[in-house]
Amino acid sequence: MAIDYDTMLSGFRDFFDSFPDVAAPLYRDRIEEMKREGKKSLVIDCDHLITYDQTLYEALVSDPQTVIPVAEQVLQELISEQDPHLLHVRFLNLDSTMQREIRAIRSSDIHKLIQTSAIVGRTSEVKPEIVEAVFECERCGEIIFITQGGTNFKKPTACPNPACGKSGPFKLLEEQSRFIDWQLIKVQERPETLRGGRMPQHLNCLLREDIVDVAQAGSRIVITGILKTVQDIQFKIIKTTFSKYLDVIGIEVMEKEVDDIDITDEEEALILSMSQDPQIVAKVVGSISPSIYGHNDVKEAIALQLFSGVRRTLPDGTRLRGDSNILMVGDPGVAKSQLLQYVTRLAPRSVYTSGKGTSSAGLTAAVIRDETTGGWALEAGALVLADGGVACIDEIDKMTPDDRSSVHEAMEQQTISIAKAGIVATLNARASILAAANPKLGRFDNYKNELEQIDLPPSLMSRFDLIFILKDIPNELEDGRIATHILDARSGHDEKIAPLIEPDILLKYISFAKRTVEPDLSKEASETLHKYYVSIRRQGSEGGAVPITARQLEALVRLSEARARLRLSHIVTRQDAEATITLYNSMIEKVMKDKETGNMDVDIIMTGKPKSQRDKIVQVTQLIEQVESEHEEGAPYEEVQKRAKEIGISKEFLARAVEELKRGGEVFEPRAGYIKTVKTTF
Ligand code: ADP
Ligand code: MG
Repeated sequence: MAIDYDTMLSGFRDFFDSFPDVAAPLYRDRIEEMKREGKKSLVIDCDHLITYDQTLYEALVSDPQTVIPVAEQVLQELISEQDPHLLHVRFLNLDSTMQREIRAIRSSDIHKLIQTSAIVGRTSEVKPEIVEAVFECERCGEIIFITQGGTNFKKPTACPNPACGKSGPFKLLEEQSRFIDWQLIKVQERPETLRGGRMPQHLNCLLREDIVDVAQAGSRIVITGILKTVQDIQFKIIKTTFSKYLDVIGIEVMEKEVDDIDITDEEEALILSMSQDPQIVAKVVGSISPSIYGHNDVKEAIALQLFSGVRRTLPDGTRLRGDSNILMVGDPGVAKSQLLQYVTRLAPRSVYTSGKGTSSAGLTAAVIRDETTGGWALEAGALVLADGGVACIDEIDKMTPDDRSSVHEAMEQQTISIAKAGIVATLNARASILAAANPKLGRFDNYKNELEQIDLPPSLMSRFDLIFILKDIPNELEDGRIATHILDARSGHDEKIAPLIEPDILLKYISFAKRTVEPDLSKEASETLHKYYVSIRRQGSEGGAVPITARQLEALVRLSEARARLRLSHIVTRQDAEATITLYNSMIEKVMKDKETGNMDVDIIMTGKPKSQRDKIVQVTQLIEQVESEHEEGAPYEEVQKRAKEIGISKEFLARAVEELKRGGEVFEPRAGYIKTVKTTF
């Protein structure tokens, strides 16, 4: 199969001159364009090369380090005026036998040209790399050129001037040396290829010259490159094992919107016929984690989240997200983690992570020191890697303080901005979030409002479209059913828990719906949502609390759109809106009802407290101020307690309120047993 140098040379000349046709040579045209625009790379689609000259293509993939320079030499002849070092021929779109998942790369691939699809997990800064070093002999002034290559810097060993011949010293002349751009990126396997919750494997990739900085952390890319190795060294001992990296020849950044799930014509026909089933919504809901009994409202919400609403850009440039964010807060052992894991397996492009996870980048992104390069690198966190899919975050209440402060931006703007150590970037994080949390004290206290028992800042909580409270309350009937369900699943009766729709097909169904359907609200649907919004607002204004805000209205729109999309309908109908409202009502009943007054109150979500409590806290502050004005050294706590009791505020509530005011910096303790309010003076 080996072909000689001259055959390769004429092979590329012919290919450039006469593919697909001598009259209209595609690559000659591209080369002319390169000349006009001063471009440095010619990109060749290997599909073309295979059809034109199979032997040449085979030589290319099996020995790229010999063949690529030949192609570059031919290019050089055709663009003679350019600096010879700067021209590259880049090859993309290898045939399937040269495509590898990262985990399937083997030693037989070393020095071959291979292709892989991956997500960029980490990007280093772009550095200058010396490729031609110019030295001066400090004894005789002789100038010495040394071409660099490989990882170690090469210096002259002896002066080539016969009259000198000394072994240095030599001075590097930086201004006369030649540098190129260099970047190391670390890519990882795509989540959709990781069925069964496997950890993604990584591959280091080296980029040079005009392909540096084309891919961002979180980008989906297809790369071709030569698999190379460096020998492992551990504690200064040279090992017999090697680490691999890809010397990148070609890189293609995929469009974000498109996932790589293939749908055949038969599957498409099946999906279309499934969508006509009047029971399709129930069937999809029933296919979500069927081994888990109950939680139907959560499953319905998850189904809608998987399909997601429509991402819109308004005429004034405002962007509206289509993704819904869902939070489950519940007692331990109610299958929260189980649901998250199921969704991770089901949803295209989903990523599973835990708030207390160990990844240095956490949920958002981080600038870190890169051990291999010694420089700074930007690493993508879960929300960036799940761009375009679902980020399943378990134990979100345990996330790091850094994540706490940046996760808001991701949820509302769907971007993550980072500016640290000279790296400034805005990464896309257009993921829906499905999160789970435990109550602050491990288990819900039934006498307090649920949301007060969640250790999450209210500003974060208010960005969830739906919040579910899952309590584990003993109930004979339900307990019996759960037990039957769990035991059946483990005694060979698995037909009961078989999903109505196979996960493989459901995944394709979701992908198809998201690609092809962008439903708009019908007049009836808008009217329904409008009426609901106004009526709930009215209900609140009577009780003095705000039950719902425009943010919740937007959430309802997204969920209604998702429901239409699930039916592959281009129109959101009244039924879609009504079903969404039913789901929403079941949530606000549980979450937004003030235990004390029975009113709906969105402030429980927005501020973490119902209005009745906020009113009482204001009363406490006023009381402290009053007692304080009657005493020199601050208000004696006992006195405050006595008077609080008179106006119906319990000892416990007072203690909690004072604790909270202290934390907020509104009161302080000048000495034990006394409190003082902080007066703001202007
Ligand atoms: P959590 O994350 O809420 O603490 P897990 O997801 O770890 O709980 O669930 C604990 C176990 O109990 C899991 O194996 C799960 O399958 C089982 N389980 C809990 N609730 C149900 C249910 N309603 N139906 C079936 N299995 C359940
Ligand atoms: Mg759990």
